[in-house]
Amino acid sequence: MQIFRCTNCSRQVYFENTMCSNCGQNLGFNPLSLKMITLHRDNEGRWMDEKSGQFFHYCTNSQFEVCNWIINNNDPAQFCIACSLNQTIPDLSRNEFLIRWRTIENAKHRLIYSLLKWDLPVISKTLDSERGLSFNFKSDDDMPGSKRVLTGHSKGNITMNIAEADDVEREMARNKMDEVYRTVLGHFRHEIGHYYWEIFVKENVLLQDFRRVFGDETIDYQQSLEKYYQEGAPDDWNQNYISAYATMHPWEDWAETWSHYMHIVDTLETAQAFELIPTSKFKANSSFAYANSNFEEILESWVPLTLAMNSLNRSMGAKDLYPFVINASSRMKLKFVHDLIHGIDSPIHS
Ligand SMILES: [Zn+2]
Ligand SMILES: [Zn+2]
Ligand SMILES: [Zn+2]
Repeated sequence: MQIFRCTNCSRQVYFENTMCSNCGQNLGFNPLSLKMITLHRDNEGRWMDEKSGQFFHYCTNSQFEVCNWIINNNDPAQFCIACSLNQTIPDLSRNEFLIRWRTIENAKHRLIYSLLKWDLPVISKTLDSERGLSFNFKSDDDMPGSKRVLTGHSKGNITMNIAEADDVEREMARNKMDEVYRTVLGHFRHEIGHYYWEIFVKENVLLQDFRRVFGDETIDYQQSLEKYYQEGAPDDWNQNYISAYATMHPWEDWAETWSHYMHIVDTLETAQAFELIPTSKFKANSSFAYANSNFEEILESWVPLTLAMNSLNRSMGAKDLYPFVINASSRMKLKFVHDLIHGIDSPIHS
């Protein structure tokens, strides 16, 4: 993530801010320019960017404090591009669900930021029922009997159990699943990987290359799932996979790899924005990590950064921020995702 500043007082502000904590001006994120805009009210009560003279309105979801994205007044849309993807939102008459939804939307907006940064297709299912994307945030309370909402992806529909936004519930799930990392943003980055697999790899010339790198995805998914939950990952999983769960099925290997590529690139962008990476390593360019088509350069910056981040966390008595090791096989898989996103030998951007 890049650094955003209030243009009124130049103080640094967070991606999620709706107001500058220093000068009190209203802020809104413009998903078209990927910039934070400081907004002033004009005499008629309209929100104006004094720099460009353009008028904006806030996404309708700003009333619930789940979104700070703005829409140009030329566009009558009520919802921003991120919120327009929502098909199901939690029951807002329950305050605890509203609080969970805020956590979920914070992570989802970060996800969409990355997709826009790469210029990947972000199309609502309401516009394209075949290839579009939708988000469904559900509670176990919506389910009959003792059924649980399963977080996952199916045909462009991403479902998340809103319990994932509750720290206690998520930590219990992490423990039960014996995972080293579990976050709402991590879930989104994983599930969107499944979505783009269907868009870019399935029924594509890339499928043969995919099988060479990730294995044959036609093996029975349900059986693989049951086997994984009964037996767990093979002991030597960390020789060939980025996580234990990636061993379950080639689709999960893909989604885990995709999410790691997103972790790496977005965190690198943040580190670069804060000048935590020696500038001699590359040209000063705030888009470095997202725009960099040189995979080796990305990885060369990443590995020392993970050591620094983990050491910082250990200094604070916290767990490692990046508790993973990138082995040779994971490197090859990450390169596959990188090449696909950068349109290298792939038809993704054509
Ligand atoms: Zn300010
Ligand atoms: Zn919105
Ligand atoms: Zn998955």
